[in-house]
Amino acid sequence: WKRNNCPADVKTLGRHTWTLLHTMAAYYPEKPEPKQKESMKSFFQSFSENYPCWFCKNDFQKDMAENPINVASREALSEWLCKRHNKVNEKLGKKQFDCTKVFERWLTGPPNGDCDK
Ligand code: FAD
Repeated sequence: WKRNNCPADVKTLGRHTWTLLHTMAAYYPEKPEPKQKESMKSFFQSFSENYPCWFCKNDFQKDMAENPINVASREALSEWLCKRHNKVNEKLGKKQFDCTKVFERWLTGPPNGDCDK
């Protein structure tokens, strides 16, 4: 039991990290320049080496090795990341997220304003 969720545990860290990652993917250019592609690739490479949860990091690195990042476009990156997150969801016994809804969740917001309904 931890008061005020401080310091961040695996869940809190995970939730906030997914927010950053999916939001980065949602705002990634539709037609990225070569430099932007390289930058995003190296961000994820570095992220997967430095994420401060060792078992999460190890599995994420393996998953990235089997499913290389796709930085071709906003859509490609968002779909790739959605699938990576679903892999973690599967491991944790959580329900699969419908990846056709990824922009509604992370870019435009749903019509009813509730992102988790
Ligand atoms: P989260 O899984 O944190 O999701 C937050 C929100 O994202 C959801 O409410 C939903 O609206 C949306 N969402 C859900 N799935 C998707 C998707 N596929 N695509 C787009 N949006 C989606 N925890 C462990 O216990 N073991 C691990 O090995 C582990 N590995 C992790 C690896 C990484 C790279 C990260 C970032 C986190 C990892 N976590 C791990 C944490 C775990 O994924 C959750 O963040 C944590 O359990 C809290 O879950 P949550 O139910 O709040 O929702």
